[in-house]
Amino acid sequence: MSGDAPVVGRHGSASSSETTRRANLSLVLSLVHHSGALSRAEITRMTGLNRSTIATLVAHLGELGLVYETAAATPAQIGRPSPTVRATSSTAAIAVNPEIDAVTIGLVGLGGEVIRKIRFATEQAPSAREVANITAAIVEGMRTELEQSYRIVGIGVAVPGLTRADDGVVSYAPHLGWRDEPIAAMIAEATGFAVSAANDASLGAGAELLFGAGKGSHDLIYLNGGASGIGGGVISNGVLRTGRNGYAGELGHTLVNSAGVACHCGASGCLETEVSLARLQRLVGLAGADLEVVEAALHAGTPELVLPEIHRQLDFLAIALRNAVNVFNPERVILGGFLATVFSLAPDYLIDRVTSLSLHGPGEVVQISRAVLGTNILMIGAAELALSGVLADPLLLAVEPVA
Ligand SMILES: [Zn+2]
Repeated sequence: MSGDAPVVGRHGSASSSETTRRANLSLVLSLVHHSGALSRAEITRMTGLNRSTIATLVAHLGELGLVYETAAATPAQIGRPSPTVRATSSTAAIAVNPEIDAVTIGLVGLGGEVIRKIRFATEQAPSAREVANITAAIVEGMRTELEQSYRIVGIGVAVPGLTRADDGVVSYAPHLGWRDEPIAAMIAEATGFAVSAANDASLGAGAELLFGAGKGSHDLIYLNGGASGIGGGVISNGVLRTGRNGYAGELGHTLVNSAGVACHCGASGCLETEVSLARLQRLVGLAGADLEVVEAALHAGTPELVLPEIHRQLDFLAIALRNAVNVFNPERVILGGFLATVFSLAPDYLIDRVTSLSLHGPGEVVQISRAVLGTNILMIGAAELALSGVLADPLLLAVEPVA
């Protein structure tokens, strides 16, 4: 590998060249995983490594079963055609997302493909023990298929609540009624897989950054609206801001109305009490309906009846966004879930409000858009959490076979 610019470490000793090789394998695998497919020429350009090094790294990742190559599809191009490198979706993670009315479990391959998604409806908000049992039962039901066709690297859990990053303990998930639940340990014990857990909106932010509307951005704010309230994730200079314990980004509990109603968090006038899916459902007389149905009804509704409430919600959303824009100076604000629905009814209204309320500098540059990963966003985000170890060090799969 001499002659290449090392990504980390220095040439000269066996251990440092090993470190460099691991870092380069990680770099190439991560690029291919997040892009879906890249030609060798593109990887060469994006990494700054030389062509023969890329060929060696791709071959090594191929031996590990993490990527495969297909012949170049553009024979007309000048010079030697460059093979296309793709992530192997048979290396996969299991994603789990408990909500107040269901537990959704997905199988997500390297490359971000959601191969399977199962929604297990529950009569009421599931307990942590029930989530572990439901996950174990669904994984057991898929076991033959998983063993024959997939290499599962672990399970990632997207939790609508405050979740501690280092041990996967949910310290508080008000809508689920959970306090201090060791959800990662419980699912690990029930399934035998390695499990990590994190806040759902933070994982959604990461998914949009890597696979969706935030691709290419380094500074973005993601806000998601669900039946369980509003969560947020802040990515600054390419890094998801977790705070000391993984609790950061709770933009749903920022003050938007000093005369507002009491929130379950103990404060009042929070964004998620003023802006909610339940208010939208009531507006169109569809209490409890799926978001797709509510969105269609809102767009089909009489504007004089629908728009006053939409504008009211967007006014409060604009206050929360103004605060976030002034604090973080993001390049993008991405709205998911029902917040994307509210935005879709009057996009220019929200953009004008945020621009005019924010400070001139950050307010001028911020772009507001809807999340593009749709209902798969939390599956992809949770799977990314489980895949992160292999992405950081693909040789982990060479050392020990994964359960
Ligand atoms: Zn609150």
